[in-house]
Amino acid sequence: MKTRSYPSSASEESTQEGHTIQGGSSETALYSLEPEAIGTAQCESAVSYLCRLAYAHHVPVDLLVNQVLARFFGDDFSIWRHFSTWKKSAAINIFTHQRTPQLLSALRAATGRVELDQLSLSTLGDVLDLRGSSSEIPHHCPLCHSKDVDVQRTYRPLLWDLKLVRVCPDHKVALVPSVCGAPQSRRLSLWGRPHVPGACSTCGSIGYGCTVAPDVPVNEPDVWVAQELGLVVAHVTAGERFMANDVVKSVLQLASLIGDGRPYRAAPVCGISKARLFDWINGRKLVRLSPLVALCAAAGVGLLEALRGEIVQSERRVDYKYSPVRGGAHAASPSKRSEAMRRAARDVTCPSLTRVADSLGLSTKYLSQCFPVESREVVRRYRDAKRIQTERRQLEADELIARLATELQTEGLRLTKRNVWLRARVMVTSQSRFERAWIEFHGAGIAGGAIEQHEEEQSR
Ligand SMILES: [Zn+2]
Ligand SMILES: [Zn+2]
Repeated sequence: MKTRSYPSSASEESTQEGHTIQGGSSETALYSLEPEAIGTAQCESAVSYLCRLAYAHHVPVDLLVNQVLARFFGDDFSIWRHFSTWKKSAAINIFTHQRTPQLLSALRAATGRVELDQLSLSTLGDVLDLRGSSSEIPHHCPLCHSKDVDVQRTYRPLLWDLKLVRVCPDHKVALVPSVCGAPQSRRLSLWGRPHVPGACSTCGSIGYGCTVAPDVPVNEPDVWVAQELGLVVAHVTAGERFMANDVVKSVLQLASLIGDGRPYRAAPVCGISKARLFDWINGRKLVRLSPLVALCAAAGVGLLEALRGEIVQSERRVDYKYSPVRGGAHAASPSKRSEAMRRAARDVTCPSLTRVADSLGLSTKYLSQCFPVESREVVRRYRDAKRIQTERRQLEADELIARLATELQTEGLRLTKRNVWLRARVMVTSQSRFERAWIEFHGAGIAGGAIEQHEEEQSR
């Protein structure tokens, strides 16, 4: 962690002790914390910046978002409230229409740092289709976060959130999923988790010591992809802008280079469908990041040059293929898919569409597009089964409370939450399935008690 950007003046510290973050000499709501490595391949991500900002103020991220940033968000602020439940941090860091510009403008307004507008790939959203280019689970480089390395590296670079990036371009080691490997007993409660750069938020392990690093071999194409994307991140976050027309022109040139003058021959070489290539070459749709990288690799052209529309071919062609379907090599073969979907639609265990998709190594979106009838049937059966299960559990809960009420009454005891807990080890919490019956039986008791108390006061 860099310390130079932390508050050092006595005036700023004293305002914080006075429990107001407002004010200070800088006239911004929050410290004017400098984003890390902006304009380089290792540029910090927006969510990493948010976490460091909260850390600098010695408050949890939730508190910073609710108490200060809330004032700078638009109408739909409610979706931001609980940071601990943010699921799509990676997508926010890369670019999503509704979230990224909002978060960055709130941060900019609160800190007065204008360069925060450049802290994502938002500007690439006009020239590339960035949907699906962020990784689903966060990854980190074990060496960047190890204790021996410079403490300045304890932030999360934006680059790690790109799905295509599988290795750290600096250390040339495979990125590791930032998934906690600690046993259940060591995991912290969801609301008490530290969101501190470089530490596992689930168990608090420093440098993600809890994660199990699988021994993944690093190949040359992966390093090339990471370096090319790193270069793009560096230029985008430094403020460079690209033109959609240049990218369209580049796609045609790249395809022509690969197909020796016949652009559509590039499709099978790169694993792209000809129809998609047609759309991109004619500017009907924005090209996605992943196939563009595949075209650059096959043509031996740098990604940054392709975005600029300045194709300069080099000798170095990289063996990198685009795989349009999630799961790629692990996906079930097309011939087995329809049979598997028909079977899933009749399955007595009523699996969810997500489970079916996982078992086939495909995405739910793919299944609902290619097998609409079967997918709808799977979803309907799953929902029905869930509803029946919920109703049954509710009925069981009602019966349990009714039985306890009778038991307690015959023993001359009251139906209180404590007595229910002592009897049946059941906690009647707010909005739990036990609450409805409990209110029904207990409500009468409370009302009676209130009346008695009222009468007592009247007589006094
Ligand atoms: Zn690294
Ligand atoms: Zn952990």
